[in-house]
Amino acid sequence: ATPTAVMVATGKGASQGVLIKGGNALEKAHKVNTVVFDKTGTLTVGKPEVVSAKLFSGISIEEFCDTAIAVEGNSEHPIAKAIVKYAKNRLPNYKSQTVVKDFEVHPGAGVGCKVGSKTVLFGNKKLMRSSNVALIPEMETYFSDNETLARTCVLLAIDGKVAGAVAVTDPVKPEAARVVSFLRSMRITSIMVTGDNWSTATAIAKEVGIENVFAETDPMGKADRIKDLQANGMVVAMVGDGINDSPALVAADVGMAIGAGTDVAIEAADIVLITSNLEDVITAIDLSKRTISRIR
Ligand code: ADP
Ligand code: MG
Repeated sequence: ATPTAVMVATGKGASQGVLIKGGNALEKAHKVNTVVFDKTGTLTVGKPEVVSAKLFSGISIEEFCDTAIAVEGNSEHPIAKAIVKYAKNRLPNYKSQTVVKDFEVHPGAGVGCKVGSKTVLFGNKKLMRSSNVALIPEMETYFSDNETLARTCVLLAIDGKVAGAVAVTDPVKPEAARVVSFLRSMRITSIMVTGDNWSTATAIAKEVGIENVFAETDPMGKADRIKDLQANGMVVAMVGDGINDSPALVAADVGMAIGAGTDVAIEAADIVLITSNLEDVITAIDLSKRTISRIR
C-alpha cells in the first residue's frame, strides 16, 4: 500500500477503535486465515472471581487467607488479584505482619516465595508437579468438579504439601462466540492457546465455538504453536493481552493486543484493539482488505 493509503487506513482504524502501528500489519492482515486467541483476558472478560475455597491438611482459613494476601499481593496476574480480593473479604480486620522473601514468578504456572522459614507455592498442577508436591485424591475431585464448569483451580502448597485450593470463574466475553462464528463465515479458523489446564480450556472453547485448543502452554510454547501453524502454510493473527502472550504476538504474522492488556503485550503487537472488543479483530482484517483492494 502507498504511504497515503496507509495513512488513510490508519486514521480510519483509529476512529473505529483499531490502532494500527504500521503499514506492514495492514499489508498482511487481509491474508490471515487463522486467528489464535489467548483465553484469559482475551476470550474471557479477564476479571476472575473466586467462587470457592477448599482447605486441606489442617490449615485454618485465617492462615490460608493471610498467606494468600501476602504472596499473591506481589503478583500482577488477574487470578492473583481475585485471590487477594477473596482473602481480604474473608479477613475483614486484616492487619498482617507476614513478610514474603525471594518472590518468584513461574510464567504460565504460578508464583513461589518464602514466608518465614516456610516455602510457599501458589499455582496450577503443573507447578506442583515440577516442584514435587504430592497431589492428593481429595484435591483431584475438587479440581475435576470445578474444571468441567469452566472454572480454573489454583493450589496453595506449603513446604511441599498441598494446603488449599481455590476455584476461579472468568466469564467469556459476550461477543466471543459471535466473532468466532463470523470468522468461520470468512473461512478463517479460530484456535485457542492458553497456559490454563486442558479441562477448563476445553470447556471455555466449547462455549465460544472453538474446536482447536492448545492448553498448558507456557509463553514460549505459545510462540511455537504459532510457528508450527506458519510452517504449515497458515497466515496467523495472534490476539492476546498478557506478558505471557508477547512472544506469540511477535511470532505471529499479525499480533493484536487487547487494549486493556499489559503494556508488554501492547508493545509487542502490530495492532491494538483499543476498546478490548473482539469484534475489532474483524474490523482490522476488514480494514486491511479494503485498503489492499482499493490499491489494486
Ligand atoms: P492464560 O494463558 O490463560 O492467560 P497464564 O499463562 O497467565 O494463563 O497462566 C496459566 C495458569 O498459571 C493460570 O491458569 C494459573 O493456574 C497459573 N498461574 C499463573 N499465575 C498465577 C498466580 N500468580 N497465582 C496462581 N496461579 C497462577
Ligand atoms: Mg491472557
